[in-house]
Amino acid sequence: MIISMKPDATQDQIDHVCERIREFGYKVHSIQGEERVVIGVIGVGDVTACLEAIEVAPGVASAVRISSPFKFVIKEFKQQRTQIPINGVSIGGDQFVVMAGPCSVESEKQIMEAAEFVASVGGKILRGGAFKPRTSPYSFQGLGEDALKLLKEVATTLDMRVITEVLSSEDLPLIEKYADILQVGTRNMFNYSLLKSIGKIRKPVLLKRGFMATIDEFILAAEYIYNGGNEQIILCERGIRTFETQTRNTLDISAIPILKMETSLPVIVDISHSLGRKDIVLPIAHASLAAGADGLMFESHFNPAAAWSDSQQQLDLKESEDLIRYLEKYFKF
Ligand code: PEP
Ligand code: MN
Repeated sequence: MIISMKPDATQDQIDHVCERIREFGYKVHSIQGEERVVIGVIGVGDVTACLEAIEVAPGVASAVRISSPFKFVIKEFKQQRTQIPINGVSIGGDQFVVMAGPCSVESEKQIMEAAEFVASVGGKILRGGAFKPRTSPYSFQGLGEDALKLLKEVATTLDMRVITEVLSSEDLPLIEKYADILQVGTRNMFNYSLLKSIGKIRKPVLLKRGFMATIDEFILAAEYIYNGGNEQIILCERGIRTFETQTRNTLDISAIPILKMETSLPVIVDISHSLGRKDIVLPIAHASLAAGADGLMFESHFNPAAAWSDSQQQLDLKESEDLIRYLEKYFKF
């Protein structure tokens, strides 16, 4: 159920409506929009009786039943697009954002070099894995807290924001201390206990689409986070697994406008993990922004050939620069 209050509804009237909803056994989420308060109602109860009671309550403009499985991240509830401000950088506004940096943090020198050139091309958000989800247990697993410290230190020096992946709920307190945006990777999109833990955090989260997830499952994963109370969610399309072998995954371009139509959340496209190659990043980045993406994530390294992970897809300085300068001709950066 979604209840829109009248623009001139008083706080007492809003409180009264919330109280009535709770009496019917429901949970209440309210949002102060620009013009009016919108109240989202979830849970199990007698919907008809509740609707009837609420419709006639003073200050209520409308009360409608929502049959969609998505409750909070949908446009009907939020009414305006979610913009996520992170210390002066806005995600979901009219400019596209760039989140770039190496696949993994390897050393102070490596992260500093990568960050310097991301900053030099205008990127404001530094990525870098500290805890790496690797397919093989014998591959490099990340430098852990040392990497987090390096990310923070370098980002502070260059006035950048940090995004890094959270692999498990156990690491959350540590990562929360250092990161500005928490990343949930493709393998963890279905980890509902992690999503619930992230719902309790009050920091922006970038949720990647599971490589086997439908768009609906992806949106429901975002609902888990929102339902926990964390509304600062950024969706990230990073490709899904198909029978195609020319690219690492198949980037689902159609997911971008669908996510923008169905939800109020910003959408970022990861052109590195979706493609797994660099020679087609220009047209794919162009297509992603043209389809409505609010920004791009890509991996960049001072010397990709020497990278400890994903060396084949990391862009070097020149490739990063060429990409941004090309996109700037068509989109606001
Ligand atoms: C990453 O961004 O470092 C990463 C591992 O991505 P994904 O979860 O999309 O594979
Ligand atoms: Mn990687």
